[in-house]
Amino acid sequence: MLSQKDNEHSDLDTAPRQRRLAVIGGGISGLAAAYKLHCETADMQPPPEIVLFEGSPRVGGCISTYSLDDTILELGPDSFITEKPAGLELCRKLGIEDRLVETDKAHRRTFIAHNGQLHPLPEGFLMMAPTQIFPMLNSRLFSWEAKMRMLKEPFVPAAPQGSDESLSQFVERRLGKEVLDRVVQPLVGGIYTANPDRLSMKAALPRMVQLEQKYGSLVKGLVATGKARNESGARYGMFVTFDEGISVLVNAIVAKLPAETVRTHAIVSKVRRKDDSWELEFFDGKKLGVDGVVIATSSFHAADMLSELDSDLSQALASIEYASSAVLNLIYRRSDIPHLLDGFGFVVPRTERRTILACSFTSVKWPGRTPPEKALLRVFVGGALQPDIFDLADEHIECLMWEDLKTYLGIQHLPLLSVISRFPRGMPQYNVGHTDTVSKIDDCVGKYLGLELAGNAYSGVGIPDCIASGEKAASAILDQAIRVAKTG
Ligand SMILES: Cc1cc2nc3c(=O)[nH]c(=O)nc-3n(C[C@H](O)[C@H](O)[C@H](O)COP(=O)(O)OP(=O)(O)OC[C@H]3O[C@@H](n4cnc5c(N)ncnc54)[C@H](O)[C@@H]3O)c2cc1C
Repeated sequence: MLSQKDNEHSDLDTAPRQRRLAVIGGGISGLAAAYKLHCETADMQPPPEIVLFEGSPRVGGCISTYSLDDTILELGPDSFITEKPAGLELCRKLGIEDRLVETDKAHRRTFIAHNGQLHPLPEGFLMMAPTQIFPMLNSRLFSWEAKMRMLKEPFVPAAPQGSDESLSQFVERRLGKEVLDRVVQPLVGGIYTANPDRLSMKAALPRMVQLEQKYGSLVKGLVATGKARNESGARYGMFVTFDEGISVLVNAIVAKLPAETVRTHAIVSKVRRKDDSWELEFFDGKKLGVDGVVIATSSFHAADMLSELDSDLSQALASIEYASSAVLNLIYRRSDIPHLLDGFGFVVPRTERRTILACSFTSVKWPGRTPPEKALLRVFVGGALQPDIFDLADEHIECLMWEDLKTYLGIQHLPLLSVISRFPRGMPQYNVGHTDTVSKIDDCVGKYLGLELAGNAYSGVGIPDCIASGEKAASAILDQAIRVAKTG
């Protein structure tokens, strides 16, 4: 049966010629956009041609799973959050929900590196604030002054509405500097590989700002929302992946698209307005006319493509900064790691002055990823706080990293295998002022019928955010195409 939206889109049927809608960029944002366009237009007669152009030889963008004998390696992201609905909803549509796996229930805890040792994050510490008093008071991670300071959090007044504070300003104001330095900087800043002095709360962590505004306190807000989540009987834990790795999602989308939809090795260099439609120019000089286009690449690539169309838009896109990072997948003999690995991994605050940002105990987090006699660790380096590390040669990074793993996990041996994957300018930085930049970009894009942007540069870097942004852009393009069909 057709949904109301499908019926609306069937107005396209009146178009005298077959329309062509393009998506540029085959990461999860572009794939989600292409799949949405495919689903929403499938019942039209004739359906518009949907084409996805990906510059590299493969789709998935940052997402890349590599199966090696008895081990599954994630070269980039390894899971997605279930709290934001777009990820799970897409899995349901694709029929892959039964392939989702949760993190191991037995070891759901994180360690924090402090003074060369690992300390468990106190139970009930959510994102940036404690929700249980006794584990926090018993923790050896914080001084007594810091513990007393945290207890005062519910009495700290909220910031004026609409203010754009950095992560450092927000956390120092509400919970004190020690919590910022020891926990929030590596744990929360680490997700964005960001500089906490520049990361915008409003852009990156709007939920925390809303909790402060609504409850007058993060602690109260986190307790209330945590309780609500438990009472709702949430079906999954916080993070999920797939039985054969996160690329199952990418492969499932590609399998649902007609074979001719996805075109790899297709680098788009310019997007121009041509009469009432659009012209894509490719790296090899070839040109193609399309009726609507979703650009789902990094914002700096979009800036290049749109430089001839609109210099204000192009400059705003180019002003979004990016950080580079690398991930090392390390396979060890389990017996070569003295640490119990009784958690999901650890994060390293910048105050420790080490190379690694974080280390995930991947084979503990996702049991079955390696045979029991082996262990898989994933180590993260680089980011906005340590840009120089990214520029070092692989062997140099490895040498620095061995030292850190020796310190924190007691490892004296080299791994059986080390695989390094690099993400140059891989993570957009949502610095203070980011929401204003995005508003400016939206205003510029709003002037052009048939042009939309999607991707991790704008309103969320997580996989569900990217899916939501791709789907939103696809819907907007279809609505605009219908308007054009009706008027033209
Ligand atoms: C190391 C790392 C770990 C992460 N871990 C997680 C995690 O565990 N969970 C989570 O939810 N998120 C995680 N993220 C974030 C998330 O993976 C990304 O934000 C998301 O995958 C980005 O998807 P995207 O489609 O917006 O961009 P991308 O994946 O960057 O895709 C953009 C695509 O556009 C293509 N392209 C660029 N220019 C052109 C052009 N001119 N013509 C044609 N094609 C072009 C590129 O080749 C690329 O394939 C992680 C990110 C990184 C870097």
